[in-house]
Amino acid sequence: MAATLVVGMLCVHLLCFGAMFLLISARLQGKKLGMEVFAVGNFLLGSAYVLQQLGGPPGWDALSVANHTLTLCAPVVYSIGALRFFGRPTPLWRPLITLALAYTAAQVAVQWVLGTAARYALLSGLSALLFLAMAAAVVQGARTFARDLHGEMCLFAVLIGGLCALNAAKFAIILQGGLPALDMGSRFQTVFYLYMSFLATVLAPSIIWLVLRRLTDELRAMAARDPLTQLLNRRGLLEGLEAHFRSRTAGPAHLLIADIDHFKHINDTYGHQVGDAVLCHVADVLKGLIRQGDLASRVGGEEFVLVCLDTDTAGALRLAERARTAIERSNAIVPLGTRPQAPIRCTVTIGLSEGFASAQELDHAMHEADAALYRGKTAGRNRIEQAGSHRVPAAASDSEPSPAPTSPAVP
Ligand code: GH3
Ligand code: MG
Ligand code: MG
Repeated sequence: MAATLVVGMLCVHLLCFGAMFLLISARLQGKKLGMEVFAVGNFLLGSAYVLQQLGGPPGWDALSVANHTLTLCAPVVYSIGALRFFGRPTPLWRPLITLALAYTAAQVAVQWVLGTAARYALLSGLSALLFLAMAAAVVQGARTFARDLHGEMCLFAVLIGGLCALNAAKFAIILQGGLPALDMGSRFQTVFYLYMSFLATVLAPSIIWLVLRRLTDELRAMAARDPLTQLLNRRGLLEGLEAHFRSRTAGPAHLLIADIDHFKHINDTYGHQVGDAVLCHVADVLKGLIRQGDLASRVGGEEFVLVCLDTDTAGALRLAERARTAIERSNAIVPLGTRPQAPIRCTVTIGLSEGFASAQELDHAMHEADAALYRGKTAGRNRIEQAGSHRVPAAASDSEPSPAPTSPAVP
């Protein structure tokens, strides 16, 4: 009686959470994070338990065959949902229908050859193996592709491991005691369905939590980045600095503002799209230059900020010079009208701040670097100026951006 009641509750739980998964997936346009597949899994398992309630004691009938097929398919569907959650596009319906047909045929064959108890043992044995494989995959995931969800993955591995153990025990009990061992009044069945009910209660909110975490992580990452160049934006820069200065051993930071010279001319001559491609090119060059842990951001139209951490002024100046020469010497390969591609060259002027030691000093450092940058612009561009009066030797004369020597004539 207790087990029957628990199974009834389990049906309600699975079907309600299935509906909730569907509603959530309808809100997640495009990237559904496997929610629609988890909904299918819940509907399959919920329907299996409804059939079990309708079918009465264990035996050989169509309801029982359908129940077993749905019960075995559900964990496979959850696995496909998990793969989709981790960004692996995996087909659902064709493998599912193939599995359902194959397992139905296998049930008929086992029933025919070995009898009803063997058919029930087959379900428990295969389920145990399936859950063992799932638990192993979750443990592997916690070590590799899902390291950011380590705690959650370990919890899932333990819960799925419990399912594996219970199904293995059920398999052994059926082998020993036959169908009477599956009496719903038995202690084992009560424990089995209580655990299933506990899982349905714990797993569904856990899945919703995982989806929420993924979405908020993505939103946070998007809010911290410039959509055109994928460099940090000002908010991302501030967060990066705060993270750096939280460490007690953090050394001083230096800030560089690199502003593309005569960028308006590039836009006016070649168009905004080419201007965007040049911005992405400069961003790529800067990204390639900084050390791991340093911060690269785009804070204005054609202004980039680099923050080198744990560096003295000489180190920051070296980085500034490397950035200036790398951009001057590199070609931005951009689409130009009907011609497929053409290289364009540009230069940057760089202003360098004094060293600073807290995230609150970001505005001040920007101001210092901006003032130095302004001096560099008036002094002829394509050069580095340092906060204070010291002037770094000029590198080149003021010249408008031009196609690289190898480029074809441009409109
Ligand atoms: P200077 O050497 O003094 O820095 O001159 P400049 O032409 O680079 O500077 P100015 O401030 O006069 O022009 C900056 C231009 O950048 C003007 C604006 O239209 C363009 N711009 C700003 N944001 C974007 C963007 O996202 N994409 C493109 N293509 N252009 C942008
Ligand atoms: Mg400029
Ligand atoms: Mg500017």
